[in-house]
Amino acid sequence: MESLKPLFEPLTNLLDRGGVHKDVAFIILSAIALLCSFLAPDDMPIDPAWIAIILCGLPIVVGAFVALVTEFDVKADLLVSIALVASIAIGQYFAAGEVALIMQLGALLEERTVARAQRGIERLVELTPRTARLVLEGGEERIVEAETVERLQVVRVLPGEYVPVDGIVTKGCTSVDESVLTGESMPVDKQEGDEISSGSLNQFGTIEVRALRSGEDGSIQRMARLVQSADAGKAKIVRLADRWATWIVVGALTAAAGAYLITGDIVRSVTVLVVFCPCSLVLATPTAIVAAIGNATKHGFLVKEGDALERLSSVKEAAFDKTGTLTKGTPEVLGVVAIPGGRFTDESLYEVLAGAESRSEHPLGKAIVACARRAGTTIPEPEEFRMIPGRGVEVRVSGSKVSVGNARMMQEASLVTEDWRDAGVEAFEQEGCTVSYIAVEGEATGVVALTDALRDESVETVRALYALGVSPVLLTGDHVEAARAAARQAGIRTFLASCRPEDKMAYIESRESAGRAVVMIGDGVNDAPALRRAQVGIAVGGVGNDLAVEAADIAIVEEGMGQLAHLVALSRRMMRTIKVNLTFSMTLNFVAIALAILAVLDPVAGALVHNCGSVLVIVNSSLLLRWKSPRSNARSADTAA
Ligand code: ADP
Ligand code: MG
Repeated sequence: MESLKPLFEPLTNLLDRGGVHKDVAFIILSAIALLCSFLAPDDMPIDPAWIAIILCGLPIVVGAFVALVTEFDVKADLLVSIALVASIAIGQYFAAGEVALIMQLGALLEERTVARAQRGIERLVELTPRTARLVLEGGEERIVEAETVERLQVVRVLPGEYVPVDGIVTKGCTSVDESVLTGESMPVDKQEGDEISSGSLNQFGTIEVRALRSGEDGSIQRMARLVQSADAGKAKIVRLADRWATWIVVGALTAAAGAYLITGDIVRSVTVLVVFCPCSLVLATPTAIVAAIGNATKHGFLVKEGDALERLSSVKEAAFDKTGTLTKGTPEVLGVVAIPGGRFTDESLYEVLAGAESRSEHPLGKAIVACARRAGTTIPEPEEFRMIPGRGVEVRVSGSKVSVGNARMMQEASLVTEDWRDAGVEAFEQEGCTVSYIAVEGEATGVVALTDALRDESVETVRALYALGVSPVLLTGDHVEAARAAARQAGIRTFLASCRPEDKMAYIESRESAGRAVVMIGDGVNDAPALRRAQVGIAVGGVGNDLAVEAADIAIVEEGMGQLAHLVALSRRMMRTIKVNLTFSMTLNFVAIALAILAVLDPVAGALVHNCGSVLVIVNSSLLLRWKSPRSNARSADTAA
């Protein structure tokens, strides 16, 4: 039957042409025509309702027919088509036009749900500066717009960033995600001499790329990639009415036939067909989702996937990353301490450390470099930079191999952290500092201690989540004392320290298989697997870390996460609205069917009842647009007082 498809293509293409503007125009024209039909005297030569039948009804009938013939697919539209034809057959043009109009309105709103999510992504791409790190003669770096990069210029790409140009790797090695080009998200290794394409996502190493083409089309590909990832989500909003379509069609035909057999009244059975049409049912879900996404956007969230809010409504736990998520991500270096008697002084170790971190995308690495600059330290140029997510960095500085990272990283390099004891590790840890170990050529040389302040809104957010019955958990790659200190300050009762990225993911997996859906909130490359795995992933820290934003379902555009509890409450409110809509429209349909069988309703009255139902559903959904969680109301009242 698939082979019949091309036969109908010219027809379906013709009907699809014109896009949203055409659809809106058709709907408005049809509504006016129906109004005329309703008000006009009965003896007009042609009923204006025909305009609605042709503009709105014809595409439905053709679509349902084509789907039935080519794919044996029974959709809600099939019933609508039958009702349309039956109404026309008995001369009930108004009822026919009315049902067609409402079905088209539902379809339009559904398209808008998806379009809205996609517009969110486009905005995201617009907001993200499309920049490249141009490498100048002396090895210095200047941030320029990606479009302005010219052929043969060299750009640097840090882990977690998109490659801005097509080119050849001239320095460093890494693996990249090329799924924008190949559709495969398997990482591909890249080293010196390899070709690399713009739009691929750099995973672990810092590389330099000599441009073979200018940077103009890089951003387009990135956009394509993001939109593509949202398309996958689109399919998930299955029209409820379509899921039940077969039953609705069978039920309607049986009831209509029954009504005719018992009463012998054809008008009655047509009325039954008309009121059976699931108009408000079709509107129930998409209108609520559109409104809720609109609300979320106003509060600074970009919802990338249409069904993300639906999934968010059932989460039981909120897993927070520490550095950059609960904390501001702009730590201060408390001290760099070399092990006494070694070959480094505190000052010379600071230089090596700053050199090692100077390609790092991690908040800790950036902080170390920033503090070193402020302290006037000379920063040597690094080579062969490699990041190890959740652990640290491995770099060659001034010819020596330097590793900076947490205890786990040192243990994996078969170094015992005992060797660092003389650098005052314990005292720093007791204070809740983040401590990273420094090894040069496989030898313990010293530590760097950093502190990072909590975000202002973290405490309030955690409290509000507990109040909503969502338990926060802290997942961090940092050591136990730092985790404990941060959890205590934020008011989180449960924490997990020394997590590798895969541990964060495994934790979420174990919770979810225990039936406790998790929302993961994170900011970094090391959080990407967990963001992807969790029922809902939310990327914080503004737009900037492409990898985290790409892996998440929702991105927070503004700095901070003060509205997180609102989002959770909103998602639950949305589900409630959907349930109310569904219950209401089903009840209405049943009552209308009963009345139709009893001949209380004629087809026109039946169609009007439908109309009222649909309008009420739309109004109920649109309340979500301006909805405020009671808590945030209370808070703004507090601040006002
Ligand atoms: P979090 O989960 O809190 O965001 P990460 O998983 O990114 O933290 O990092 C875990 C630990 O690994 C850090 O606390 C730090 O000790 C170490 N680490 C990671 N990246 C770096 C780096 N670039 N420089 C120094 N230490 C690092
Ligand atoms: Mg982090």
